[in-house]
Amino acid sequence: MHAAKNTTSKTQYFLEKEEQFGAHNYHPLPVVLTRGKGVFVWDVDDRRYYDFLSGYSAINQGHCHPRIIETFIEQAQRLTLTSRAFHNDVLGEYEEFITKFFGYDKVLPMNTGVEAVETGLKLARRWGYEVKGVPHNKGKIITCEQNFHGRTISVVSFSSDEGSRKDFGPFTPGFEMIPYNDISALQAALQDSNVIAFLVEPIQGEAGVVVPDEGYLAKAAAMCKEANVLLIADEIQTGLARTGKMLACDHEDVRPDILLLGKALSGGTMPVSAVLADDEIMLTIKPGDHGSTYGGNPIACKVAITALQVLVDEKMAHNSEIQGAYLRKELKALGHEHISIVRGKGLFNAIVIEHPKKDTAWDICIAMKKNGLLAKPTHGDRIRFAPPLLITRPQIDECIEIIRKSMDNF
Ligand code: PLP
Repeated sequence: MHAAKNTTSKTQYFLEKEEQFGAHNYHPLPVVLTRGKGVFVWDVDDRRYYDFLSGYSAINQGHCHPRIIETFIEQAQRLTLTSRAFHNDVLGEYEEFITKFFGYDKVLPMNTGVEAVETGLKLARRWGYEVKGVPHNKGKIITCEQNFHGRTISVVSFSSDEGSRKDFGPFTPGFEMIPYNDISALQAALQDSNVIAFLVEPIQGEAGVVVPDEGYLAKAAAMCKEANVLLIADEIQTGLARTGKMLACDHEDVRPDILLLGKALSGGTMPVSAVLADDEIMLTIKPGDHGSTYGGNPIACKVAITALQVLVDEKMAHNSEIQGAYLRKELKALGHEHISIVRGKGLFNAIVIEHPKKDTAWDICIAMKKNGLLAKPTHGDRIRFAPPLLITRPQIDECIEIIRKSMDNF
């Protein structure tokens, strides 16, 4: 564990509470936040920071977006939850809105991202057995090395991250892992007629914003179609304008058979996720086969409509594309000897730190925190730079200056 050095007594108070009473399943930066607005968050000592993580891209629309908060409060004062045992006057409106927005026949609403992934896998298997005709319980789903799709036992069953799996077995069978961004590996895997689906992140987020070769996704989609295999795109982190288009799949005009969304679908206000597919797939699930108490609750439905509308009205995909390209250009222009790679798409970016000392990326994040910018390392040497999508060019200039100053001592 890294000691929380140079924290104020107020910060220390909150750190100690979490340390004593909370499970130790995260390793946060030693900063205690109390409010947020747009691209900024403030700590308990009223220090202001640029948020360069955006709640792992749940806050694409910026912290406490006034329209999203207004919608949330309005619906919260009217009707919060009916469960799906009864109908309500919001769910259908949301279902119509989101299916037309993304161009699918139907939506299945869930809460967290990993629930959307699980739902996508269940749907794919149902389709595999009932439509494609794969022999029962022989279905296979292809996944990629270095993926991140969440934390349930089934989902970590096909993780290549040892920490996510250690002593959590036995695992769910029926998954085969292939290298990411490797079309021939996919081609080989698709030879097996029991393959039902290919689950893929259009850009691997938790792996450190790994952008595949241009054309990878389009080729994968065409190959899946040819093999009668479903393409499941996990756009939980890459979707909703983060990469400069509404969906990362849009960069290659790919329409996945099953689309998974989450995170920014609520603009960071509550867990809202969605699975979109056409009838041939979606209607394989019958009443009682799958569900969730909170899935499709009235607050979630209303908030999701506003969250999507805000992305469009404020042209956030366009801003993400423009500011993202500028951010990468300026990061490269720093020419820092310890930044070996700058990569990304739109405002979904990462730098890779090359330094003989193991914890340098963490230490750089601590230095950036001191200078007013919050980012978090992933896989030891990668730092993700993914600010809310309303960031402006002068703000990026200020952030570049913070990054430059913070890296000067390394
Ligand atoms: N899929 C992807 C691509 C993700 O990045 C994440 C979370 O980071 C998830 C799924 C899981 O989402 P959640 O943490 O809401 O369960």
